[in-house]
Amino acid sequence: MLKARPNQSDYPRSHTDRVPGRTSLAGRLTASLETKAWLNVELTNVCDLHCPLCITGTGRNPEPQGFMDFDAYRTWLRAVAPRVEAVRFLGNGEPTLHPRFLDFIAETAALGLPVQVGTNGMHLPPAKALLASGLSALYLDVDGVTPEQHSLYRRGAELTHILSSAKSLAAARPGRRPELYFLTLLGRHNEEQRPQFLELARTTGMDGIVFQLLADEFYAQEGQTSSRWFGRRHERLAEQDCVWRSSLGMLNWRGELQLCQMGPYKQGCFTKHHAFANPDPLVTLHSAEFRDLTNRCGSFPFCRGCQCRSFERLSETVLFSKRLFLRKGLEKLLRNPGVYLLPSRLFSMLRQYRWDRS
Ligand code: SF4
Ligand code: SF4
Repeated sequence: MLKARPNQSDYPRSHTDRVPGRTSLAGRLTASLETKAWLNVELTNVCDLHCPLCITGTGRNPEPQGFMDFDAYRTWLRAVAPRVEAVRFLGNGEPTLHPRFLDFIAETAALGLPVQVGTNGMHLPPAKALLASGLSALYLDVDGVTPEQHSLYRRGAELTHILSSAKSLAAARPGRRPELYFLTLLGRHNEEQRPQFLELARTTGMDGIVFQLLADEFYAQEGQTSSRWFGRRHERLAEQDCVWRSSLGMLNWRGELQLCQMGPYKQGCFTKHHAFANPDPLVTLHSAEFRDLTNRCGSFPFCRGCQCRSFERLSETVLFSKRLFLRKGLEKLLRNPGVYLLPSRLFSMLRQYRWDRS
């Protein structure tokens, strides 16, 4: 359970300065100079599907299962909000299973923070309630164009039900809010259907589709890429930064701040030996040790083979609207001004987006 801070005055001034309602001019100036970043939040590590590469789906998660405490989240979020660019609800569980899922979105949106949700789509709330919550974007796992193909990886899921919920949501929303996307894992078993995935996303009313590479482990053939389509990108992979390097880490359902979603499970509870030592995630977030570890994301021994290192090269977002394509590109450039200095990074970042005119 996420613990509330016992006494704010115990913390250095720079921390309390960022708490809404207690801000000083110096604190606000400091906060405004800090770079904002994504915060990832695991509302639960419970899920009813059985995806074969997922530690939750395969019952390999060594952590106790549970749901995040809403009041503790609210306290913590208000404290860190000035440093947060947006919040993503994801993690080693299905966020929509949280009984207060909509409250978490509404609470976050009320602070003016964009909220994204990644979901298997089996338990979406009614469209009207979801629209009223203030959600900014929804990423729906769709790994097949037929129910059989979808459940090859998303074991236990029903594609017909997912598409029906997605259609209702797309039809009920005014304009393009929330943005709606398929999140599709491509591999040898479904990459030939790429055009059909685009068609399915269009007819379901999505704004686009994010293709990611299904890990080689699914095919149990080490040393080979699982996808011909991604093959050339895969071959060119060099040492990349990890995408989690530019985030504030992941707040797990117990209220502990992890460096990333994967690390603790890849080789022991790595982060527990470091940042988890303090029960207050706010103290962890501001510690020099946590910042230092975040800067090293992607270079730890257990990072070998982790796809988060090469995420930008191994994913592609196809957007159906020119306006959305331009907006996304611009947003991304503004968020990462440093890439101007490195043409290869700029190119790599821009080619992640594609506008599909068909
Ligand atoms: S839907 Fe997500 S959380 Fe659930 S088993 Fe699959 S990968 Fe894991
Ligand atoms: S590359 Fe390393 S730090 Fe990054 S997500 Fe993977 S395991 Fe975590």
